[in-house]
Amino acid sequence: MKPFGYVRAGTPVEAVEAWAAHPDAHYLGGGTNLVDLMKLGVETPGTLIDVSRLPLDTVADTPGGGLTVGAAVRNSDLAAHRAVRDRYPALSQALLAGASGQLRNIATTGGNLLQRTRCPYFQDTDKPCNKRRPGSGCPARDGVHRDLAVLGHSEHCVATHPSDMAVALTALDATVVLLGPDGERTVPAADFHRLPGERPQQDTVLRPGELITAVELPPPAGMSAYRKARDRASYAFALVSVAAVLDVRGGRVRAAALAFGGVAHRPWRARAAEEVLRGAPATRDSFERAAAAELDLARPLRDNSFKVPMARRLAVSMLTGLAQPAPTRRGQGGRR
Ligand SMILES: Cc1cc2nc3c(=O)[nH]c(=O)nc-3n(C[C@H](O)[C@H](O)[C@H](O)COP(=O)(O)OP(=O)(O)OC[C@H]3O[C@@H](n4cnc5c(N)ncnc54)[C@H](O)[C@@H]3O)c2cc1C
Ligand code: SF4
Repeated sequence: MKPFGYVRAGTPVEAVEAWAAHPDAHYLGGGTNLVDLMKLGVETPGTLIDVSRLPLDTVADTPGGGLTVGAAVRNSDLAAHRAVRDRYPALSQALLAGASGQLRNIATTGGNLLQRTRCPYFQDTDKPCNKRRPGSGCPARDGVHRDLAVLGHSEHCVATHPSDMAVALTALDATVVLLGPDGERTVPAADFHRLPGERPQQDTVLRPGELITAVELPPPAGMSAYRKARDRASYAFALVSVAAVLDVRGGRVRAAALAFGGVAHRPWRARAAEEVLRGAPATRDSFERAAAAELDLARPLRDNSFKVPMARRLAVSMLTGLAQPAPTRRGQGGRR
């Protein structure tokens, strides 16, 4: 591993100032992704600015009925938080579907959002990869791509974003709070990650030196849930996952939000499906039409077309479950 310096920041402002003094630095959360990539030679920061012990480790109610989650809150703590389990079950379920207990005990909210793709070529410095070395090519497009994107990919990159938590945050209309050399700004979670286009090396809209300080959740817009299809029952990334929020009144869909994971370079907010759902009868037929409207946009690669029917079935089954009257449903709380 390349030698690197280490700085521990005491406040968010100190962290950003430390970055200004070391522009080749990376922020360090739990290190569960960054340190692995440093060992592989994929990431080579000159300095690590440790932000894992910043005073950003609380989950608190906001005056408007939402929740604010500090960037240093550990994944286990967030998943177990009473308000998250009761009001945002999709978020708790997504966190618990990711990694392992040991990893979740260390991984942070900020680091989880910024974990990098698990595309095998990205992790292998002997191979070309446009994301790791822009302009070198994308061997995954004609190579090993069973786990990779079916939506929104480009000729330059077909990678998928790996975070389960980010998919739930996208469906829950969360906002990411950033502090950078030019001050504070917020970005909707749905716009935080990018599609690859011609610049796959850039995963997000984060500007140089920006630190994630918090994630803010608006009041729950309906019942919510998260489900993940994967090769093993635990310790595996999503082949396809779905986060859904549904508010049904008088048998009709009043509000719906849907996001897919494991299918694109970013959590895929299913706007076409939501358009079909809004005001429609809360029936299996509507859910089928909604899923089809979104997945018509899919452009599978040679070996991953199975993801399209998998995403459709998962979405329909989840929406059907969420539309059931409350007593028959378990673990899908939220506003009713
Ligand atoms: C074996 C294994 C299985 C896994 N399975 C899953 C899975 O199924 N689902 C899933 O979602 N994840 C999975 N993960 C990934 C895991 O969730 C991430 O490694 C973890 O969430 C990253 O958080 P961290 O705090 O350790 O981030 P770090 O590794 O510390 O950092 C990750 C990135 O975020 C940046 N960063 C960290 N904090 C901040 C901040 N506050 N502001 C700005 N930048 C910041 C770092 O510079 C780095 O680029 C798995 C990991 C492993 C090792
Ligand atoms: S899919 Fe993206 S990450 Fe994977 S090899 Fe191609 S450019 Fe690299």
